[in-house]
Formats: sequence, structure tokens, C-alpha cells
Amino acid sequence: MYDTAAPASWPCELCNHPSVPRVHDGCRARLDTNLAALPGLYRQLAEALVPGRRGGDGRTGSRTAPLPVNLDALDLRARGSGIDGVLTSWERDIREILGWAPPPFRGTVEQQVDGATAFLRGNLGWICDEHPAVRELGAEIRQVVGHARGIVTGERPERRVAVACPCGHTLSVTVSTPGARCTGCGQQYGRTEVLRLLPLAPRTAA
Ligand SMILES: [Zn+2]
Ligand SMILES: [Zn+2]
Repeated sequence: MYDTAAPASWPCELCNHPSVPRVHDGCRARLDTNLAALPGLYRQLAEALVPGRRGGDGRTGSRTAPLPVNLDALDLRARGSGIDGVLTSWERDIREILGWAPPPFRGTVEQQVDGATAFLRGNLGWICDEHPAVRELGAEIRQVVGHARGIVTGERPERRVAVACPCGHTLSVTVSTPGARCTGCGQQYGRTEVLRLLPLAPRTAA
């Protein structure tokens, strides 16, 4: 046994910062917050199905050219795709790993979303400690929450910015990135460090 001064740490599966647990408590809490938002977003997307009621586009005045149903919102609300697709496929995956029965039929898509959300939140400790693909799970949940929230609020998704690693490789990040690893030299950057890298050819002023 080596006598080390600090407890062993490795990159957190969700943010890549050094961490003693596999996933920081704070990162797990953020994932939980994202999960908890999905049932509400699912319901709010019903309102977003008709774009004219949302406003914000500045295109709501036309009476002669009705806007089509918001297909993104429709897709996010469909059974087996969108929000239900992401939640239920992860629930199924986890049940398989644990040798449990597949997800039960819960009724409406809304009820399915509620049930799968409760399942994932209830098993979040195990997911963060043990699930081999917690990184992908976290990324997919973050993505579907961002997509749904963008439609509900009418905001565009965050623009990606290309920054240059000193090794010559390019990293594509968003302003709220938790961090990134350069695929060229393997350098791990935290949020602050990655945003300090030189932006490449900004096309529009922020
Ligand atoms: Zn973390
Ligand atoms: Zn690099």
C-alpha cells in the first residue's frame, strides 16, 4: 500500500473535474434537477404545440398563413420518442443491468414520463455510483431538457463556440459548458479554463 497524502480522485463522470466519488454530489443534484424538470416540461410542451400562442417569434400576426403545429414539440411529446423515449430507454437499460422486470405499462405518455422520471430519480445514487454509461445518461437528459426548455421559452439553444487548444486542436463548447477534454492532447479543461482559451474566428458579436 502506498501512503498517499490525498484520497484518490479521478475525473467526475459528469463534469470531468477531479472528484473522490465517481460523480460529485453537486453534479448528481444537477442531474436530479434536470430529471425533476421533465414532467413539467412535458406538460408545458402541450402549450407550445401551437406556435402562435407562444409569441416571441414576432410572427404571430398573420391570419392568412397559419403556422403549422410545432413538430419539435410534437416529437418531444410522442410515445417512445422525445422525452418518453429518453427516460424509458434509460429505465429499461437500468432494469436490464439489475436483472429487473422491464418498465411496466403506466397508461398515458404523461403517466409514463412521470413514472420513468420517478424511477430514475429513485435510483440516481446507484446510477451515479455504478452505471457504466452515466456520462451518456447525463448528456442525454441535459440535451432533452435543453431542447424542451428552448421550445417552451422560445429561446434558441446555446450557440457553440470553437476554441483553440495550444496543441492545435479545436474544441467546440457552449458558454455554460462544465468543461471539456481536448481530443488532440488529452488536456482536461474545467469550465473557467476552457472559456479562457482563444476563440476561433467569432462570426458574430455576443
Ligand atoms: Zn462533477
Ligand atoms: Zn490539445
